Amino acid sequence: MQSASRVEFISVVVPVYNEEGCLEELISRCLVSLEKTGRRYELILVDDGSRDRSSEIMSKASEAHPDQVISCFLNRNYGQHSAIMAGFSLVRGDLVITLDADLQNPPEEFGHLVEAAELGNDVVGTIRQNRKDSILRTLPSKVVNKAAQAATGVKMHDYGCMLRAYRRPVVEAMKQCRERSTFIPVLGNSFARNTCEIPVGHCERAFGESKYSLWKLINLQFNLLTCMTTFPLRILTYFGLLSGASGFLLSLYIILRRFIISDGDKWGQFGTFTLFAVLFIFVGIQMVGIGLIGEYIGRIYTDVRARPAFFIDRVLGRKSE
Ligand code: UDP
Ligand code: MG
Repeated sequence: MQSASRVEFISVVVPVYNEEGCLEELISRCLVSLEKTGRRYELILVDDGSRDRSSEIMSKASEAHPDQVISCFLNRNYGQHSAIMAGFSLVRGDLVITLDADLQNPPEEFGHLVEAAELGNDVVGTIRQNRKDSILRTLPSKVVNKAAQAATGVKMHDYGCMLRAYRRPVVEAMKQCRERSTFIPVLGNSFARNTCEIPVGHCERAFGESKYSLWKLINLQFNLLTCMTTFPLRILTYFGLLSGASGFLLSLYIILRRFIISDGDKWGQFGTFTLFAVLFIFVGIQMVGIGLIGEYIGRIYTDVRARPAFFIDRVLGRKSE
């Protein structure tokens, strides 16, 4: 990839799901920041089936800024990452920046992302300085970051932060991926040659509340896990081997005690509950394992059905279309 070249055209992709409170501010701040970079640009807003005034605000913005604000409407709610993928299908720029609509990450950082990309990085990640999220969000993301680092071999600190820049070839590679349950930052890194991370500001959600319920969040963490690695399946095999081997040793020991040391049934009797405890532990491990397999199978199932990951209803604001 010839990535050390100058960025001529920036595409910003923002998924929008019931964000009427911050959308106007988001659009104006993005446009100001993009104008400052001095490059050609487009702001692609993807409406992920919002039920509030978001789509109205988007249409108005596209009318007011033709060919600069592009509005794309999905026919229903597909989730943040599918919405970003839908946005990717429309990009024209040679650098693609993703951003959340909730203004937790300032659009004012675009310039820094562009600079970092021009130094020859295919993917520019960000690290949220003094992150303003609840422990429910920060703790899982710590675990996930570690796992993602191990799986992709790319040392990035903060996979959860969506303010990121990707060179166009990386985006094209991501578009080739047909899987539905993706996690874009991890996917992007798997196609990058050079990556870097820059610090960015982080604030609390100004309007509305997080669009992730606990349930959606759990699903997202599983998506992340299964999209990057099948390693947990292998751990399961190792666990099976280990527990099988220790079970074998345990039975050997019991036979030895019974026939060679032959202290009668005393030990076996007193050990009943120990055995129960051991049994329960292994049953637990099995359950976790089966659950994990189920996670993969569920995803295989959705992928073999090969339904489109998103369906674009209409696009507003493009001159050519
Ligand atoms: N989002 C979306 N579809 C969804 C959920 C969220 O497009 O089903 C968008 C949302 O509008 C926002 C971004 O994804 O732009 C991140 O959502 P949110 O800020 O609620 O997530 P959090 O910051 O809590 O991780
Ligand atoms: Mg947010």
